[in-house]
Amino acid sequence: MIREEFKEFPISKEIIDTLDLLGYKHPTPIQKKAIMPILEGKDVVAKSQTGSGKTAAFGIPLCEQIVWEERYPQVLVLEPTRELALQVKEELFQIGRKKRMKVPAIFGGMPIQREINTLKQKSHIVVGTPGRVMDHIRRGTFVLEGIRSIVIDEADLMLDMGFIDEVGEILKAVLKEREQLQMSLFSATLEERIQGLVDAYMKDPVFVEIASDTKTADSVTQIAYEAEEEDKFQLLMDILVDKNPKDCMIFCATREMVQTLCYKLQRKKVRCEMLHGGMEQRKRLYAIADFRKGKYHYLITTDVSARGIDFDDMELVINYDFPSKKENYVHRIGRTGRKGNKGTAISLISSREKQAKKAVERYIEMVIPVENPEDIRVTRNQKDAFEMKQKEKVLIKQGKEAAFKSEITKLNIGGGKKSKMRAGDIVGAICNIKGINQEDIGVIDIRDSFTYVEILNGKGDIACGNLQSKTIKGKIRKVRKMKL
Ligand code: AMP
Repeated sequence: MIREEFKEFPISKEIIDTLDLLGYKHPTPIQKKAIMPILEGKDVVAKSQTGSGKTAAFGIPLCEQIVWEERYPQVLVLEPTRELALQVKEELFQIGRKKRMKVPAIFGGMPIQREINTLKQKSHIVVGTPGRVMDHIRRGTFVLEGIRSIVIDEADLMLDMGFIDEVGEILKAVLKEREQLQMSLFSATLEERIQGLVDAYMKDPVFVEIASDTKTADSVTQIAYEAEEEDKFQLLMDILVDKNPKDCMIFCATREMVQTLCYKLQRKKVRCEMLHGGMEQRKRLYAIADFRKGKYHYLITTDVSARGIDFDDMELVINYDFPSKKENYVHRIGRTGRKGNKGTAISLISSREKQAKKAVERYIEMVIPVENPEDIRVTRNQKDAFEMKQKEKVLIKQGKEAAFKSEITKLNIGGGKKSKMRAGDIVGAICNIKGINQEDIGVIDIRDSFTYVEILNGKGDIACGNLQSKTIKGKIRKVRKMKL
């Protein structure tokens, strides 16, 4: 039976309401097929691309099954990169928000001690990169005894990045703790090496695949211009001025090239940022967040951004350097022409890159038409319009959090671990307020000297007002509303 609406699934009202708030009106094809078997506890192997809604496809059934009261993590989600770990954590946290779920992310490049402290507190789903997860398992700081379900997300990328041994080690460690383990595997391709992983660890998995006739979508107009390296920059500028796209991703082959190109464009007063694996972790996360918010319009990047990371649909994708791996061409141009929109993918091809273009054409079973760069005639008016656009005031796009604004209020309460504050103290004080009960209290996060608590169902103002004069753990505490 194919269910066309979320409410047709045996899912609690809390989650259905949350999906509605998030604007998920109908299940996507992968969700229609994967939610039920995962809910039923079956192993699932799903072939799925970025943007298909695959995170929610496993997130919805797994959040549904979380038992809030349990002390130790119940689900482990493995992601190949730190950015993906954070993105998936965020999506799962939002889906489970009304269930008050805690979803920590653990990944390299961040201080481990902070993660150890987080893992000491109750958490429901842990999202992490294999290296860091294994590190915590070895240190004994990640308790596996409660894990009932594991998700291996972006499995092909995971293998490309050489994580196969760690993934195997983690699976063995979890299986040592319990015989029954549900596994879900999501991958853009299901080639032989993925099958190896499936055969080694999964039992009678349900295979879920979404039919796709072509490797590249018809909604994307693909063109190429032949240009030698020294002419590419001017050609790129002409294309940008001519198209004046709202959002655009420009792909380069190396980190160095990304850096050089980004600086060159910034010198021309083009509002752009860069993202590549060599950047410091924090800068990478800021670059992603700022691009999502619309603080700048062009992202210069390597293939790290070709897939996985969830950006809105791009109007234009430019291959400043043509990809050396044919699959990456498909991932890159898949950033445009999504969600019913039309998009354009333009490749700049030097004579050295002609062979790679041919290989891609065989792979996608179509010829990428070559146009003449001289046909791009940039007018004065276009130049003015482009320059104006670069100077426009930034309009910050609202993130997913905004959906909950009217429903959830985050309070900051003075007093935390140092004053031995416990969740029970907070719950007790809030439940004493007339009209508020336990269901209205969301995530409680106790820090060293203060505590965050989320008040649900639009009752934040009543709670905040009342707490100004109520004692918590014997003292009147400073209580203020925070930005969500
Ligand atoms: P993913 O493929 O998991 O990276 O998801 C791509 C984007 O689609 C994310 O921004 C999700 O929040 C969004 N999304 C997931 N499921 C739905 C749905 N049923 N309706 C609308 N948007 C969705």
